[in-house]
Amino acid sequence: MAAGASRLGAGRLGADRLGILARYAAARRRRFRDRAHFERWQAARLYQALSRARRVFPYYAEVPAPELWCFPIVDKSLVTAHFAHFNDRGLALADCLALARRTEAMRDFTAGLAGVSIGLSSGTSGRQSVFLTSPAERRTWAGTILAKALPDGLWAGARAALILRAGGPLYESVGGGRVAFRYFDLAVPLSEHHSELDRFAPTILAAPPQALVLLAHARRKGILSIAPGRIFSIAEVLDPHDQSLIESTFGVRVDQIYQATEGFLGISCAYGRLHLNEDLLVFEREPVGPGRFTPIVTDLYRRTQAVIRLRLDDVLVEAPDVGPGSPCACGSVLTVIERVEGRRDDILLLPHAPHGERAAPATPPGTGAEPGAVRPLFADFVRAAILAAPGVQDFRVVQDAPDLLHLAVRPASAQAAATDALRALISHSGLRIPRIEPAAFTPGPAVVKLRRVQRTFQASTS
Ligand SMILES: [Zn+2]
Repeated sequence: MAAGASRLGAGRLGADRLGILARYAAARRRRFRDRAHFERWQAARLYQALSRARRVFPYYAEVPAPELWCFPIVDKSLVTAHFAHFNDRGLALADCLALARRTEAMRDFTAGLAGVSIGLSSGTSGRQSVFLTSPAERRTWAGTILAKALPDGLWAGARAALILRAGGPLYESVGGGRVAFRYFDLAVPLSEHHSELDRFAPTILAAPPQALVLLAHARRKGILSIAPGRIFSIAEVLDPHDQSLIESTFGVRVDQIYQATEGFLGISCAYGRLHLNEDLLVFEREPVGPGRFTPIVTDLYRRTQAVIRLRLDDVLVEAPDVGPGSPCACGSVLTVIERVEGRRDDILLLPHAPHGERAAPATPPGTGAEPGAVRPLFADFVRAAILAAPGVQDFRVVQDAPDLLHLAVRPASAQAAATDALRALISHSGLRIPRIEPAAFTPGPAVVKLRRVQRTFQASTS
């Protein structure tokens, strides 16, 4: 992104580089002897963050003590509704939204208000919102992500290609020029980036999974020749189906950067395990099913905008073998999770059918499941079942009502096989089979998040 970076001017870039290096060094120095050592450090850091929050964010002015349990659990819609009370400059949502929409339309991400940058939050449901970051916060982000993504250190050198939906002011090089970044805008068709990618020859490639899939296809066709040594899938759920295509094409493991507007939440280590960034955020867990939880996060470093006990939309799957306190082979004491499975709206909710799909007899009281009570069917089961059906290359399932699924399949000739696979899965899961109607397969543009499984009506699990 030469244009964006050069607009900042050389002096500013120099200061930014030094700031990033300082944050990088701080993140590299942060090593914990064991989990107990880490938890003492985190508790002290949390106390500082919460003490400041009571002073600077009007929403928390009445919280009686800087203890996590004294703060309410909030979600994105509540934060959006009281936006000005959740930032330390009193910025109003309407002003921020107007500016963010203007900058997004111009693909110019350097504009700001009151010294902070404003990014449009790509929420898929509810009101649109924005996220605010100060220059110091962006330096912390860049320095920390470098420290975690480059285990061999800055001095080993790297060329990192970042393919993102919306950029921020990014940095062309840090570490005395040994580490170079190049930003590629996902709003531009990827094929237009091929020659520039080949010239840049990235050693690290970070992109959302659907962009990695397109690059893998281009590489297989011989119209792209990059050979990165490390690949990160960024920001979205990585489907095992897509993962194996990317890995077999490029011959390297796909690692993950778990990142959202709420923060830099996790990253894979050198052993390929996804660690939660508990040195940046506190993760509380709200159980959503066996071995699964939704994180409630509190950021230890963000200052402009409050991220305190914020319930995310994601569903995370616990790692069976590595819990808090049992360190990974990489030596980190930070919690390992198996994977990010999807968003809460990616879970289908179907009525329980304890006796199969035959007209269910009334369940005697006190035996557990009420007839008709809805149960979750997790997105990864749906993906695995349908993608394994003969002939299916890709699909979308949308649940538009408790008893109605729309299923789009590519190629259309595999519709019947996909429908049978979905019916069998639902039946084996002890759920009542709803109407399954065919829909046209129309993949969205690359800037639209890839969600193969989605639910459009709101309901609560029993
Ligand atoms: Zn590890």
